[in-house]
Amino acid sequence: MSDTFLPSGDWPRMLPGWVWLVGAGPGDPGLVTLHALNALHQADVVVHDALVAPAILDWARPDAEMVDMGKRGGRSSPKQGEISDLLVSLAKEGKRVLRLKGGDPFVFGRGGEEAQDCLRAGVPVRIVPGISAGIGGLAYAGIPVTHGAVNSAVTFVTGHDAGGDTPPLDWAAIARASPVIVIYMGMRNLGEIAARLMDAGRAPDEPVALVQSAATPDQRVLETTLGQAAADAAAAGVGAPAIVCIGRTVLLRQALDWQALAAGGPIGNPDPLG
Ligand code: SAH
Repeated sequence: MSDTFLPSGDWPRMLPGWVWLVGAGPGDPGLVTLHALNALHQADVVVHDALVAPAILDWARPDAEMVDMGKRGGRSSPKQGEISDLLVSLAKEGKRVLRLKGGDPFVFGRGGEEAQDCLRAGVPVRIVPGISAGIGGLAYAGIPVTHGAVNSAVTFVTGHDAGGDTPPLDWAAIARASPVIVIYMGMRNLGEIAARLMDAGRAPDEPVALVQSAATPDQRVLETTLGQAAADAAAAGVGAPAIVCIGRTVLLRQALDWQALAAGGPIGNPDPLG
């Protein structure tokens, strides 16, 4: 094991036959946790999603076996059972298994289900949280997920259920109760979701940001409105992976787009909420 890049400390050892379910964050390798790096240095096999950046995978042991669950000979996304079966069989071979997932493994990532499948098969697990796209990805667009002048609550939802449909949520209740709504996997059903929120009283001119490939070199941000979001996304070609943020915190991006500052831009009006 190489621990060259870990600060001194009592880092946990991966034991043979264990599965660690680890979040890799939204993209930028600098958002990987030290526990994730420690796991990459030790794992015999890394089973990862398509969304995990190559630069992060490069931190695995040079002799580690890498399994890309996002690209399996052109087949579409694997069935959940297939991933769990693989994790269990690798662990039962006595390997130290790192299941590396984008963002946080317990946020719309089926990490809970995979952990349960391992435990049902008698395989012990450790969980390493990561920075979720709905928080860290928005921060990379200069959008705070909460702000004292805007919201005391935020709702995270998934934009489609297992069958791809809009989930059977009480959208009217969410519209009433949550000043800021953050949608994962929301692009496909964006028009329908926006319509349901507007039916429940949200204003068509409410600010919306679509943040595609947040915290990666390909990050793109489209600022739009609830009424125009689906049409603007289609016109601009914004698609998955993207986080949708609905609410007035989006307006703060005018002040807090720190990536624009890093690129040499001027400090703008720090109080865009007026
Ligand atoms: N566990 C992940 C979410 C998995 S669901 C997390 O905590 O972030 C996959 C969805 O997450 C994508 O469809 C997209 O909505 C969002 N997502 C993940 N990474 C993203 C990124 N870098 N930029 C924008 N959206 C991202």
